[in-house]
Amino acid sequence: MSPKEVLKFVEENNIKIVDLRFMDFIGLWQHCSYPAHELTEDVFEDGMGFDGSSLRGWQAINNSDMILIPDPASAKVDPFSEIPTLILICNVFDPITKEPYTRDPRYIAKKAQNYLKGTGLADTAFFGPEAEFFIFDDIRYGYSANSGFFYFDSEEGNWNSGADRGPNLGYKIRHKEGYFPCPPHDTLMGIRSEMTLLMEEMDITVEAHHHEVATGGQCEIDIKYAPLLEQGDNLLLYKYIVKNVARKHNKTATFMPKPMYGDNGSGMHVHQSLWKDGKPLFAGDEYGGLSEMALYYTGGIIKHAKALAAFTNPTTNSYKRLVPGFEAPVNLAYSSRNRSASLRIPMYDSSPKAKRIEVRFPDPSCNSYLAFTAMLMAGLDGIENKIDPGDPMDKNLYDLDPIELSNVPQMPASLDEALDELEKDHEFLLKGDVFTEDVISTWIEYKRENEANAVNMRPHPYEFMLYFDF
Ligand code: GLN
Ligand code: MG
Ligand code: MG
Ligand code: MG
Repeated sequence: MSPKEVLKFVEENNIKIVDLRFMDFIGLWQHCSYPAHELTEDVFEDGMGFDGSSLRGWQAINNSDMILIPDPASAKVDPFSEIPTLILICNVFDPITKEPYTRDPRYIAKKAQNYLKGTGLADTAFFGPEAEFFIFDDIRYGYSANSGFFYFDSEEGNWNSGADRGPNLGYKIRHKEGYFPCPPHDTLMGIRSEMTLLMEEMDITVEAHHHEVATGGQCEIDIKYAPLLEQGDNLLLYKYIVKNVARKHNKTATFMPKPMYGDNGSGMHVHQSLWKDGKPLFAGDEYGGLSEMALYYTGGIIKHAKALAAFTNPTTNSYKRLVPGFEAPVNLAYSSRNRSASLRIPMYDSSPKAKRIEVRFPDPSCNSYLAFTAMLMAGLDGIENKIDPGDPMDKNLYDLDPIELSNVPQMPASLDEALDELEKDHEFLLKGDVFTEDVISTWIEYKRENEANAVNMRPHPYEFMLYFDF
């Protein structure tokens, strides 16, 4: 839609509220709403003001004015608002220079797309994320001297008294066997179908949905590959739909990578390929049916993986997932068969169009624009410098003996380590001014201070179990 068409749509569909959205530095959608009459053609030129200093990792307070300019092509009706509301995704601008704000993640993704075209190597980078998440019951309960135990019944949506939360109907999923028995074991099929239909209504094509391995209600909804920027937008809408449909059912959804000790975590495998003039460039006669270009791309991802982790696995919780034994990768190797490797070459579909590499270390706590962009830049660095990915590792990497294992590089073990790696290795991200030194150093400082150090300095509940009686 053009700005004129958006205004016409607002009028014809009796839209009452316009909701401007943008992604903050960390990776969450933020929004501000306006009565529909505030949206004029000028807004698509001059934008709407907001206070950039209130957002994590952005402007200093003495320099806090920023503007949001909506992208008319992004207009979508909000399915969760009873009052007719139009969502518009925005780009963030500096009101003085009228330049795009360099810490706007969406701008970084746009610059990466332009950089890719400028290299002449390819014109489109496709990304297909498989985000996993948990759906938990919203359990609220308490005790009062007068009425005894009371609890919130999430199925019925009301408060009840008594300690009994209803009968155990059996068919519980056994530990690590969530992938993927039929209902009545899988109690979340209906919710996922509802999420799926809403996604499709909002122009995100879904390929499949299923229960995942972890017992506590782990789910996956797979969406069709799309170009970098579009997929970054899609992933924000995806999370919005997942969280709000869960809420409608009095449940709660989380994308934190490892919410449950001793069970599988939630990853976000990301399938990637490059295309030029409508032709796929990753199919060829090399290992796994890949082209030489795809192997070099893989080499780039492996070479820079430790630094990439600061964007693809950007939380302290991310590293509780990257441990052996839960289908999450630890070793930096590639293979066509091996799901214990960090990079897999899917073999189910032999058509050249489907040829892609699957990067398995990312998780859904990442900022989608930054994580996709960083991986693209690493892959391009691999192609430009002909980086050899080494030999594939076709055995179960969890079973390697210690000597063999010592030759295989490992993912970082903590957010601290990933941030140190990014500090040492980020030249490849600065090409074409895609990332700037300011973005890299702000990211590192923000994550160190507010997340890594903040978690390290707090006594952990488990420490009480270990040490309280010392
Ligand atoms: N949950 C696993 C992970 O953390 C992946 C499981 C799967 O999709 N095979 O990456
Ligand atoms: Mg999957
Ligand atoms: Mg999965
Ligand atoms: Mg996968």
